[in-house]
Parts: sequence; C-alpha cells; structure tokens
Amino acid sequence: MVNKIDHIGIAVKNLDEALKFYEEVLGIKCGGTEVGEEQKVKVAFLPIGDTEIELLESTDEDGPVAKFIEKRGEGIQHIAYRVDDIEKAIEELKEKGIRMIDEKPRYGAGGARIAFLHPKSTYGVLIELCERK
Ligand code: ZN
Repeated sequence: MVNKIDHIGIAVKNLDEALKFYEEVLGIKCGGTEVGEEQKVKVAFLPIGDTEIELLESTDEDGPVAKFIEKRGEGIQHIAYRVDDIEKAIEELKEKGIRMIDEKPRYGAGGARIAFLHPKSTYGVLIELCERK
C-alpha cells in the first residue's frame, strides 16, 4: 500500500531558529517554505536523499502543531508515507478497521493530497498518507 517515506514532520517553536540548525549544522539546504492556512502552520521543506524533512511552526496557538508542542514538546509530529492512489488506500484502511482522521483526502503542503490516520490505530504515531502527481 505504501511505497516509501515521503517526509517526516517535525514540530518546532521557531522555524527560523530550527532552520539554522538543519542548514548550518547538518548542512541540509532548505527547498522552500509555505504557509498552510488549513493546518495553521508555516512549513519549511528540507529535501534529503529521496525523502524530506518538513519543519512545522504553528501560526496559531489553537493549531494542531501548537497543541502537539503544548502536550509533548518539540519533536517528530508525523511520518508521511507515499501512496499512488490515496482514495484506494483510505478505503482499504477503513475496511481493515483502521480509524482515520481524514476519511477524504485534502490538500497539504506542496499541493500533495493527504489524509491522516488516527494515532490510536497506529501505535501512537500520527501517520499521513501522501499522494503526489
Ligand atoms: Zn506532512
């Protein structure tokens, strides 16, 4: 069902500060930034190999990333797996009794179509399915 790790989402309090670490210490070049209105986040994309690190800073104290940091501190917030056909993947997961946060795909950063699985069904990890054309 899933092909590869598309990206790893990391929640940070301050995107510019975190970027300094990734760029200057680890030497990963930022591939661009984007504001996601729906998720209330500012995102920085850091391509590495054939995957990507996605740094997420909340733009709103009620956003999901702000709530995540409040509860668990900064750190890995989600893992995104690439799928070819997101509708088909969601249907298969539902048939297998997996609890979905998104029963229909929505648009995420970079124009990808995404859907989240509920961490209660995934051993505590917020999993994102990600379809890119
Ligand atoms: Zn993501």
